[in-house]
Amino acid sequence: MNIMNFCSNGRSGRNLKNEERLIKILVADLEDLNSYISELMAAIPLAVYTVNAAGIIIDGNEALAELTGHPLEELLGESSHKLFAEEAEAKNIERETAEKGYVTERELTAFTKGGEKIPVCISTRARVNDSGTMSYVTCLTDITEHKQTEEKLREFYELERKERIKLEREEEQRLQFINALAHEIKTPLTSIVASGGLLLEELKGEAQSPRVRLVENIISATNKLEARLSELLDIAKMGSLSFKLNLELLDIRPLLQKVASELLPVATEQGQSLTVDIPLSVPMVKADGQRLEQVLLNLLTNAIKFTGEGGKIQLRLTRKGNELVVEVKDNGPGITKEEQTRIFKPYYRIEADRQRFSGLGLGLALSKQLMELHGGKIWVQSGLGKGSTFAFSLPIAEPEENATRPHPERRASNLSNGESS
Ligand code: ADP
Repeated sequence: MNIMNFCSNGRSGRNLKNEERLIKILVADLEDLNSYISELMAAIPLAVYTVNAAGIIIDGNEALAELTGHPLEELLGESSHKLFAEEAEAKNIERETAEKGYVTERELTAFTKGGEKIPVCISTRARVNDSGTMSYVTCLTDITEHKQTEEKLREFYELERKERIKLEREEEQRLQFINALAHEIKTPLTSIVASGGLLLEELKGEAQSPRVRLVENIISATNKLEARLSELLDIAKMGSLSFKLNLELLDIRPLLQKVASELLPVATEQGQSLTVDIPLSVPMVKADGQRLEQVLLNLLTNAIKFTGEGGKIQLRLTRKGNELVVEVKDNGPGITKEEQTRIFKPYYRIEADRQRFSGLGLGLALSKQLMELHGGKIWVQSGLGKGSTFAFSLPIAEPEENATRPHPERRASNLSNGESS
């Protein structure tokens, strides 16, 4: 409706003036909005441009000129695809935008006027104006720094991978060497023990002869040497990938009985009592029997070794929640709070014990690692002059595994030295 129509429709001159005033305000607002958008486009650090349906750049901002090195006037009227090294991919993105309405965060390489290639991230949105004309607004981000960081990270990962493979190979070679060395030493030791055994047989009739004691000493010292060698071998293997537990569903009560029975004569020889307190039935655990035996043997041997003559040693098995707890209690010299954390470190031995007892200080460190590999814990409760209780815990196997257990309800047999239940 034009001004003449207003007049002929009988509008008054005052109404007409009002309409004109409103139109002026609207035009001023539009100009304001336009300049606001232009300032915004100039201020944002992202390169933005608009192309028409034929892919020709019809608008762009300063950041685009900065990124490409082309003055804006040079870019207007040019095909946007030519800005990119991957021209075909740029066309694809435009096609996809026409279909979907938008495309976000695709990576392309932009050419600069100077021939430099810049990695960019591109997001595009389709726009249809009032008259139905299609255009595409595109936003480009320079991702050079991001790419450089990514490349550096990739290089680091590659370096780390190569180093790890190298270390694993060296570790494997080291273990192979230690294994071969241990084997070389163990073979003659085995024959010394075997020959000693035969010699003892020969000397059967001379029980009181000093020669018998000498041969027994040779056998016992050789056995100790072999045990130390095994400890060293274990500690070397422990950190390596090749070390694996042989897990099986286990009733640990017979294992505890066996180790206690084996050590009973040793305790008796020192005038010590060894009592065993094992419940009639306990749930099964998932454990490596041989390794558990090794841990228990170490704790009991230590208790016997450090408690001295007339000592009292107790082995106890209890269930605490979802765990089984094995305790080895002695009334020996006890260990100070300070020493209690140190003794679980490899090669650590309490100063006063170094001269008096043999050992490498590896038993507790090995036991700790073995228990942790089982998902359990090992600890000590002690105080100087108050004896020590070494204990380890093992998680009980899942209920469904326990449901398929055999029939372990065998009553624990008594040990001859001391009471048991
Ligand atoms: P080793 O027995 O070969 O010395 P361990 O790692 O088994 O090595 O023990 C480390 C140290 O912890 C021992 O040398 C000893 O000083 C101390 N220790 C271990 N068990 C006991 C115990 N039952 N009573 C007192 N001290 C102990």
